[in-house]
Amino acid sequence: MPARHILVINAGSSSIKTALFDDDLTEILRVEATGIGGTGAVKIGATTDPADLPNNAAALAAIFAALTQQGISLSSLRAVAHRVVHGGATLTAARRITPKIRQAIADCVPLAPLHNPHHLAAIDAVAALAPELPQCASFDTAFHATIPDVARRYALPDRPDLQGLQRYGFHGTSYASLVRALPRQIGTLPKRLLACHLGNGASLCAILEGQSVATTMGYSPLSGLTMGTRVGEIDAGAVLRLVGQLGLDETETLLHHQSGLLGLSGLSSDMRTLEQSDSPKAAFAIDHFCYWAARQAGSMIAAMGGLDAVAFTGGIGENSARIRNDILDKLSWMGNFPSYTVEAQEEIQIARDARTLLNADQREQE
Ligand code: ADP
Repeated sequence: MPARHILVINAGSSSIKTALFDDDLTEILRVEATGIGGTGAVKIGATTDPADLPNNAAALAAIFAALTQQGISLSSLRAVAHRVVHGGATLTAARRITPKIRQAIADCVPLAPLHNPHHLAAIDAVAALAPELPQCASFDTAFHATIPDVARRYALPDRPDLQGLQRYGFHGTSYASLVRALPRQIGTLPKRLLACHLGNGASLCAILEGQSVATTMGYSPLSGLTMGTRVGEIDAGAVLRLVGQLGLDETETLLHHQSGLLGLSGLSSDMRTLEQSDSPKAAFAIDHFCYWAARQAGSMIAAMGGLDAVAFTGGIGENSARIRNDILDKLSWMGNFPSYTVEAQEEIQIARDARTLLNADQREQE
């Protein structure tokens, strides 16, 4: 195999997804480990087999074994590129992973305790198996580095002990890929674009002349829209009461894993299941999702000083005409504007980032 392939790794808490791309960024193979800690499975292409995956280390080992079985050894790759959720205030663009950058990702663990440790574990596992192999990272937060301070800061005092408590924003790889893909689709990039990434996690982004100027997620991916299991916007006072009533751990579980569409419907976090249900609670959950998407869209539109187009992406945004139309109806007060659907291509974007970094390094060496 030519050493030009890039393996993208998206290491999460319950699943690890990988995709292999050739030098033209054509996807060659997908290998995924799901159900880590529970009923595990490894999916190679279209084939899924049950697997014992007690923890993330076992899942990574299963993925590397599956790749080897497909004739792909890590050391034969051009690079491994990781999705990293949090890059904090310093990692505002994709980077080659050096010891310094690894440390910077580790420094962001307090900002993303549910995510960055899994990314680091994957980075370290690859480094142990193939020490010479270049590794890169793309950060979900990076696209939002252009957000002005007035949108970024919470109204907290300027004290050293409160450093880092600011809005970062997430889904940046998806928005970066949308900004690239939309002009290829429609011939131009609308000046004031409301981008809606609607999946299990959901956010909006105000994109002014290609740059993020506001987004609905903040310090963590918990705020903003009503999501699959995350609560979205909630008064900090309510959170204080919950911590007093339930304690920190139970509050965290409630707000991250038991709220949103699942909490409201009492049925499912999955939009397709809710759309197919005739339960009034499922209908209310859908209405809540659309209402708050449209209300928060108003805030994004204000941040851009108007609206030229809306673009939808993500599992719900790409596939559910009902949700798109409901949100667009609720925005009809804005007058007429075009709306588009764009396929989320986060993995290709991460591979592209890595290829750009490696090509630049290569040019420097030549
Ligand atoms: P993630 O945020 O985990 O990457 P996705 O972007 O794949 O998730 O989005 C998952 C969501 O998309 C689920 O709520 C799923 O029900 C929803 N979805 C996928 N296809 C459809 C469809 N045809 N109609 C409605 N919802 C859909």
